[in-house]
Amino acid sequence: MITLPSEVKKFIQTIREVGFECYAVGGSVRDTILGRPTHGWDFTTSATPQEIQKILPDSYYNNNFGTVGVKVADDIFEITTYRREGKYSDVRHPDEISWAKTIEEDLARRDFAMNAIATDGEKIVDPYNGQKDIAAKIIRCVGNPGDRFAEDGLRLMRAIRFASQLGFTIEEATWQAITKNLGLITKVSSERVRDELIKILASDFPADGVKLLHTAGLLDHILPELTKAVGVDQKGTHHVDDVFTHSLKALAACPNPNWVVRLAVLLHDVGKPVTYKEVAGRATFHGHEVVGARVARNIADRLHFSKEDREKLYMLVRWHMFSVSEFLTDAAIRRFIRRVGPDNTTDMLDLRTADRLGSGTPKTSWRHEQFRQRIIEVQKHIPSVNDLKVDGHDVMKVLGIAPGPRVGIILSKLFAEISEDPAKNDREHLLKQIKAVK
Ligand code: ATP
Ligand code: MG
Repeated sequence: MITLPSEVKKFIQTIREVGFECYAVGGSVRDTILGRPTHGWDFTTSATPQEIQKILPDSYYNNNFGTVGVKVADDIFEITTYRREGKYSDVRHPDEISWAKTIEEDLARRDFAMNAIATDGEKIVDPYNGQKDIAAKIIRCVGNPGDRFAEDGLRLMRAIRFASQLGFTIEEATWQAITKNLGLITKVSSERVRDELIKILASDFPADGVKLLHTAGLLDHILPELTKAVGVDQKGTHHVDDVFTHSLKALAACPNPNWVVRLAVLLHDVGKPVTYKEVAGRATFHGHEVVGARVARNIADRLHFSKEDREKLYMLVRWHMFSVSEFLTDAAIRRFIRRVGPDNTTDMLDLRTADRLGSGTPKTSWRHEQFRQRIIEVQKHIPSVNDLKVDGHDVMKVLGIAPGPRVGIILSKLFAEISEDPAKNDREHLLKQIKAVK
């Protein structure tokens, strides 16, 4: 038996009372069996969307797949009429969907056995032995894998995404079919590819996911710029691995759960293959962060990231070579904060931690910690005009002028100077400057 939450059972009951069949199905059933938290319940029913809407007056019906949504507590329940296979993404009009008659037909068009389990809280319909696969941690296509992938190329990535989310293994025939059907991914819209890539990055095993994408041959289609790093050796540097291996190790070590930060970690050296030069037997990569940031921005555009995500990715790659030297002045720290943005300093430092761990250096250094502290200190004290070593009285005295707006203008000119270079906040110097800037 699969124990469903009471509001899920109640929902199924509401539909059944009117005489229709209704089952919970898909990811949340799978996650409940696994004892993992669920997000969003999916239901399948013999009722048509129009019939469901009559039963649930507060529901909405606004997509192309015959799915009706309804808000229950703080969750969204989505209920879809039994379907036969129609192309998953290419259906543009609901009339192109052909409704199925039975739950078995509906389950037959789903992607993986573990996702094709239906239950109403009592009866379990599991024609592909999904429960057995879940127990064995296996991802296996429903029916013939080659046919399933041909119907929807995104399933190639979904298999790998579930592997990295759940820590499951892809069953052999399913895996073989992935490697034989790589080209199908190019037919999938970049928005759908992006969403799967994001889920892989945000998963518990992001580096294993990216490695699987690479082993399968999919990464060449998704992030070809990154596969160029395969075999780019870094001899004569502190790195023991080639650039690709280092990037994967850094991703695996990333302490930050944010997918943009994780992608920045994965791409931080993406400029290295392009800038590689061997000088006196040593590998050099001058300007790789500048080139890499541009490459990352192109990737973000190709995958239709939001402007905000794109700019953050760009910034993290662009400035990842920052110094944490103990000799940095406060002005240099302020410049760092200005460049990356006050809200991004932690993410930038986490990228550095991942980079260090990914190249086999210890987790952190005292310099790194001191730098982190200094960022906090410097941010506590944002200088203002009141911090100037001269004041309005000095200005009036030096210039022999009366109180008035001019005094303020001169002070703010002096302030502009010292915020660029705090060393200039010296009384002698400023007294001279009063005349210079007037
Ligand atoms: P998650 O919600 O964590 O992304 P999920 O398994 O719930 O995982 P959804 O995309 O929400 O995945 O889809 C719900 C169910 O619909 C799946 O479990 C599966 O049965 C079916 N499904 C979704 N997308 C596809 C697809 N591309 N091909 C076949 N079946 C699919
Ligand atoms: Mg879901």
